[in-house]
Amino acid sequence: MGDTNTYDVIVVGSGISGGWAAKEFCDKGLKTLVLERGKDVQHLKDYPTTNMMPWEFEHRGDVPQAIKEANPVVSRCYAFKEDAMHFFVKDTDHPYVQEKPFDWIRGYQTGGKSLLWARQTQRWSAYDFEGPARDGFAVDWPIRYKDLEPWYSYVETFAGISGNKDGLDILPDGEFLPPLALTCVEDYFRDFVKKSYSDRHVIYGRCAHLTEPKQIHLDQGRAQCQKRNLCQRGCPFGGYFSSNSSTLPWAAKTGNLTMKTNAVVHSVIYDDKKGKATGVRVIDALTKKVTEYFARIIFVNAAALNTNLILLNSTSSRFPNGLGNDNGLLGKYVAFHNYRARINAVHEGHLDKTTDGRRHTSAYIPRFRNVKKQETDFLRGYAAGFSAERSSKRDTSGFGLDLKANLDKKEWGPWRVGSHMMGETIPKESNYVRLADQKDEWDMPLLSINIDYDDNDEKMVKDYLDQLTEMFTKAGFTNIEAADSKQAPGLDIHEMGGVRMGHDPKTSLLNKWNQLHACPNVFVTDGACMTSTSTQNPSLTYMALAARAADYAMQEMKKQQL
Ligand SMILES: Cc1cc2nc3c(=O)[nH]c(=O)nc-3n(C[C@H](O)[C@H](O)[C@H](O)COP(=O)(O)OP(=O)(O)OC[C@H]3O[C@@H](n4cnc5c(N)ncnc54)[C@H](O)[C@@H]3O)c2cc1C
Repeated sequence: MGDTNTYDVIVVGSGISGGWAAKEFCDKGLKTLVLERGKDVQHLKDYPTTNMMPWEFEHRGDVPQAIKEANPVVSRCYAFKEDAMHFFVKDTDHPYVQEKPFDWIRGYQTGGKSLLWARQTQRWSAYDFEGPARDGFAVDWPIRYKDLEPWYSYVETFAGISGNKDGLDILPDGEFLPPLALTCVEDYFRDFVKKSYSDRHVIYGRCAHLTEPKQIHLDQGRAQCQKRNLCQRGCPFGGYFSSNSSTLPWAAKTGNLTMKTNAVVHSVIYDDKKGKATGVRVIDALTKKVTEYFARIIFVNAAALNTNLILLNSTSSRFPNGLGNDNGLLGKYVAFHNYRARINAVHEGHLDKTTDGRRHTSAYIPRFRNVKKQETDFLRGYAAGFSAERSSKRDTSGFGLDLKANLDKKEWGPWRVGSHMMGETIPKESNYVRLADQKDEWDMPLLSINIDYDDNDEKMVKDYLDQLTEMFTKAGFTNIEAADSKQAPGLDIHEMGGVRMGHDPKTSLLNKWNQLHACPNVFVTDGACMTSTSTQNPSLTYMALAARAADYAMQEMKKQQL
């Protein structure tokens, strides 16, 4: 390119969705600039803890108390441990305003949160995309499952997803690598549920791990998952999907990728005369120097709430309230997943069997409430995780050889079973993010978050606990303990919306191709675009939407429409 600051495409953010956009554009020969606000993390080279033994950690894996106390929000995330804490944003480094309690979990580095995620990858179903139109909440999705189906297959084939073909319309099958086995008690519960309920199922949770790599995965330089279960450190085998191991190195190999890290995108530049976005304004995270980059197409993939922040901060005389925000709805209708409830119990049977070794997923109960008709006093429903493991204990008394001998003796306890809820929340105008008056050290306004549960969520928590208690009781489980953690929204790490898709520019920000209605050369394909939240983990859907939108953008560019 003649002008070193001009590219065909700019992608903001290098996480799960930005990595996919970059791969698609680079593969098709477009010069693509990826701007990432965090530090560079190269696959293999920058996983400092990946081969460390437990005794090599100064605090034996735990986060030092002083760090916990200074960072209460991120410390509540289960994966914030000594081995991976360098991949999480500390509360102290990047403050935000909580109008109501909200645990905002972030990863600012090459790969974003794709290094840290739990890799659960369930497709959404026709019921999910039809939900708002059928139940009358939010606005109608401008796409249906059929629009996304080929793109799910496309991203699954490349990413590598292990799973079973279960034949359920509530959780469509995909392109799967072989699954791992469930434990015998998970099998028992699956068979029991099948026998006892016509509409409920227990399946093997689909997961982005290479259980049996294909050529396309070997071509990415990835290898079979070794079941180390140390994924959040970054995997030296590329056994699980991350931007770092998969999409970004693939994009780099084409020679079309320019990756700039420590590049904080401040705003999208809108040219009033040209009537379109022309580029982005970037602040160097280290020197604070401001640079502008230009492109025909801009994909904003900074993760749901940061994408809202960037667009709200992108003001011009045409868009004084944020880019594309003619209807004043930018930042509103944010929703999330309700992960508050869980239930634990004991299974007294199967004492002649146990498990050995490790695995990276367990069982999954797809949504069964309000699927075909409205049957409860709350809208929508919940999915649930389910796992069963044999408990054990070891004698840690003694010193030296005595201790060693005692440790060798493992005493098996009963099977412990557990489930957690994954509830859909309803997008509402009153759940929003906006710009605060305070600014951060990069001259960006802080994000102010106003998100809460509502009556629908309370009823759903109760129903989950009632239903799972009934299912556990009927299955013969004992010592059932049901709990509502009352945790703040956010810890689910599935925040979505604020820049939602829809047919009508009066009530939505993006069209069916993820383009801003009012500024079509800007696309949003991360969680910000989601019209509703379903119950399934959302990242696979962001990947499919990103690949689909990139394909559309390239067709439009060829036709000189963009
Ligand atoms: C512990 C954990 C477990 C999870 N488990 C699952 C799971 O099992 N299944 C699932 O579907 N999802 C899971 N998630 C959520 C999943 O990680 C996210 O949905 C996914 O990473 C979102 O992709 P993204 O591209 O939108 O954002 P990210 O992957 O977060 O990437 C966004 C990138 O944008 C960058 N950025 C932000 N602001 C700017 C700016 N102003 N300028 C430039 N760059 C910027 C960030 O630094 C980051 O690198 C989990 C997350 C965590 C942390």
